[in-house]
Amino acid sequence: MNRREFIKTAGVVTLGLMLDRKFTEAKTQMKISAVKLFDGGYMMKSFACGGGLPEGSIKEEKLRSSLQNFVIDTGKEIILVDTGFPAEEKIPVNENSVITFGDKVKDYVDALKAAGYAPEQVSKILITHKHADHTGELRHFPNAKIFISRIEADDMKLTGDNVVRTDFTDGAYKNFDKSQKIADGVYYIFAPGHTKGNSIVIVEDGEKFFMIHGDVTYTDEALLENKLSVVFEDLPAARDTLKRVRAFIKENPTVYLSTHTPLGCENLDAQKIMKLPDVEEDAPAAEVQPEEKKSGTIWVCSVCGYEHVGDEPPEVCPRCKQPRLPSAKNKICPIKKFFPAKNSAGIFFQLWRPTTSRPVSFSIASKIFFARSSMKASKLSARQSSGSMKCFSRISLSSVFESFVIS
Ligand SMILES: [Zn+2]
Ligand SMILES: [Zn+2]
Repeated sequence: MNRREFIKTAGVVTLGLMLDRKFTEAKTQMKISAVKLFDGGYMMKSFACGGGLPEGSIKEEKLRSSLQNFVIDTGKEIILVDTGFPAEEKIPVNENSVITFGDKVKDYVDALKAAGYAPEQVSKILITHKHADHTGELRHFPNAKIFISRIEADDMKLTGDNVVRTDFTDGAYKNFDKSQKIADGVYYIFAPGHTKGNSIVIVEDGEKFFMIHGDVTYTDEALLENKLSVVFEDLPAARDTLKRVRAFIKENPTVYLSTHTPLGCENLDAQKIMKLPDVEEDAPAAEVQPEEKKSGTIWVCSVCGYEHVGDEPPEVCPRCKQPRLPSAKNKICPIKKFFPAKNSAGIFFQLWRPTTSRPVSFSIASKIFFARSSMKASKLSARQSSGSMKCFSRISLSSVFESFVIS
């Protein structure tokens, strides 16, 4: 190579390096996209905002509903937050439904492709919680580690080398006590209440924070009004989590990305910084009434987790108001395989299911107070975990998820 040729080659190499660096810089920009699954549904405001409140506290109206998850492209890797709803399942809807998804936009994998990503590209999945509309399509990601809080993973009996039971050992993140750093700018944060192992994801992008919160609220109205939904496993923890979420948003410029309202997509498109008014917390749940002994089967509402004791499931759930479906009369649960192990799982399928195959004695409050029912749910879960109570849905679920999980 003569001198002239050398300079020419070196110039090309330098230019190549420069372009390469520019390309790398451009690629490392954080990008969040919605994975759009359903749209055009509704939810009743009492369902989205009536958690822990006496009946009639919420002025009823229909709010918009949809279903979407989110995908984070860090520039170095593709990270999913939740994996939608099982493609083959249909959601029973009637005029009394308290929440519907609306019309299907796409199945999860097609929706992910529409957002520009193939399942094989995904390196990590962060699960906010165990419910079927957040874990439904875990089976499609051969190269991904599944991060899920230990509590939820144990509940679902998840197995496989690709399951990372997360204990949130990286200390506090801002005003949240427990977090795990997943990648530069991506934090997985323990935020219990909706379920006991519930978590959220916060993504940092320059000055902005993006909060992908699963079901901390079903709709932004609940966030603005400082209200909980009727779906919770631990009411005091859910209240504490909502308080921290609101405090975070007030202190940091945050785009709030919801799962169950089209506002999640609209906030993302507009990069809208959420502004929160000062709103008083709801008064603590009403005091517990004296208990009366009852015996029978414990029936658990698959939408909100409310427990009922008796020979038959109730016509309407006293907490979430979802009417029972005809199939529940036969104590047959046609989609039982999608119920995660415990009471509030299988959300959006209104089917009362017995949690025990034999009658049991169980004390129950004579009047329904939501805090109390939440406590009972915890007790029941504890018994189920200890294995002293038979729960047929648990058995079938674990086998389904074992087949989902690549080991
Ligand atoms: Zn949920
Ligand atoms: Zn959900």
